[in-house]
Amino acid sequence: MGEPIQSILIVGGGTAGWMAAAALKRAAGPHVQVRLVESDDIGIVGVGEATVPPIRDFNAMIELDEAEFMRETRASLKLGIQFNGWGGADSAYFHPFGTFGAGPTLGDFHHIWFNLHRQGLGGDLHDHAICTQAARRGRVGLRDSDPRRAPLNSLFTAYHFDAGLYARYLRRVCEGRGVERLEGQVVEVQQRASDGFVSGVRLDDGRVLEADLFIDCTGFRGLLIEGALKAGYEDWSHWLPMNRAMAVPCARTGPLTPYTTATARAAGWQWRIGLQHRTGNGYVYCSDHITDDEARETLLANLDGEPLAEPRPLRFVTGRRKTYWDRNVVSLGLSSGFIEPLESTSIHLVQSGIYKLLQHFPDRDFSPANTAAYNRRLGREVELIRDFVILHYHATTRDDTPFWRRAAAMAIPDSLAERVEAFRDRGLLFQVGADEYFSMGSWLAVMVGQGIVPRSGNPLYGLGDAARSAAGMTAFAQRVAQMADALPEHEAFLRSRNMWAPDSTAAAA
Ligand code: FAD
Repeated sequence: MGEPIQSILIVGGGTAGWMAAAALKRAAGPHVQVRLVESDDIGIVGVGEATVPPIRDFNAMIELDEAEFMRETRASLKLGIQFNGWGGADSAYFHPFGTFGAGPTLGDFHHIWFNLHRQGLGGDLHDHAICTQAARRGRVGLRDSDPRRAPLNSLFTAYHFDAGLYARYLRRVCEGRGVERLEGQVVEVQQRASDGFVSGVRLDDGRVLEADLFIDCTGFRGLLIEGALKAGYEDWSHWLPMNRAMAVPCARTGPLTPYTTATARAAGWQWRIGLQHRTGNGYVYCSDHITDDEARETLLANLDGEPLAEPRPLRFVTGRRKTYWDRNVVSLGLSSGFIEPLESTSIHLVQSGIYKLLQHFPDRDFSPANTAAYNRRLGREVELIRDFVILHYHATTRDDTPFWRRAAAMAIPDSLAERVEAFRDRGLLFQVGADEYFSMGSWLAVMVGQGIVPRSGNPLYGLGDAARSAAGMTAFAQRVAQMADALPEHEAFLRSRNMWAPDSTAAAA
């Protein structure tokens, strides 16, 4: 074994930078120096507001107090995503967290349901999903992992939060735990002549910061991984042509919704995310099909409250860094790539990159095999998420605008084509190994939601007594409805858990 890493420098203090700081400090304790440099002049993207359930594990791992976290970031709970207009103008479906049936994994439920459904039995698919039923009622709760309490064992939740406040909160936590924060703009990345490893970064005031390991969290610019090491970028625009967003917060009106809404528009889609103190909105679009002014107008015409700021334009290229970890630089967050925010996976990929970095934590020899394994695993995970997001566009029956006609006609990755065909043929769903984030329940929700109907089913599940199975399904659906009815309303739940602070000065600062 080589010499241990003694110092880590994180460059960038957005969500990615402070998540990395918190996790690395938690894992390495006092044995490794963890420093973070960021520039207040550059600022952060700060629009990531929707997350997926594993964020709970991350917050627990870095030992955040959940109620404090919720107050500080003015968070709400999220049970899934409501998709409006993705199949046709009036179509709608829900992508719930958790799963269908007694869960927490899908098991054979969908085969049995499809068989019954063909015979007009089994009810609606979503009668069997506790997250959908709770979301429709505006009610929330926390998962009970005891299988005897099904369907509460499938009541997975994530958060909506103000990403700017999350970064600020993590900064305070990290500084309290011994992470040193430095203010300054990196103007030069210095590399060893012998092997190109990064030896230090020079700041605008002339200071040079050295470290054994560098974490590039500089956002889209990828100052170290791309600017210095030229890792290269794999552009996925031909599959995911969204390249811009216009984001604006508006005043909150009405009850706090425990789900994200993604509404299809002429050249993309619009998000709506209810936080405690405001509602976040954004139009994600493709600049080939709409101008920035048109996007801005569409966004402003579709808010449910007064806009609280000028719409903010953002630009991006969907894709990923060809190498996430190169020599002694690991990129996390937007510096490692970006899949548009439709399924709220960006902050999740920061988390996943951090977990994998901890698993593959190097010594100062930086074994190439270890680095390659990290890159392979994260790359596979990102590709599978990419496929899942593409599915939403590809499997549309909309043909009302050039954008949607393009989406329906575009070629898709072979890996996705294979999945769609397996499902269309006989309802087959599968997960590709432990590194795949989206569950079979997620694939089921979106395939069915986007109108993909299996031609036939697995014959094994057609052998039993249909009436008996249908009675079991009905009883389960009744239990789901009863349990959803018994959950508290969203705001009442947050209040009862000391999570409610829409006007707190800490969060407003
Ligand atoms: P940034 O926030 O850009 O931070 C970069 C940091 O690097 C800053 O601190 C900056 O000061 C620093 N920096 C840059 N250059 C220098 C320099 N030269 N010297 C010193 N410091 C420097 N994710 C989700 O999970 N859910 C969502 O709903 C979601 N919605 C999104 C919507 C849009 C339109 C976009 C564009 C992104 C969205 N994301 C979402 C992604 C999410 O915002 C990011 O993944 C997350 O905020 C991490 O960003 P980051 O920390 O990598 O980069």
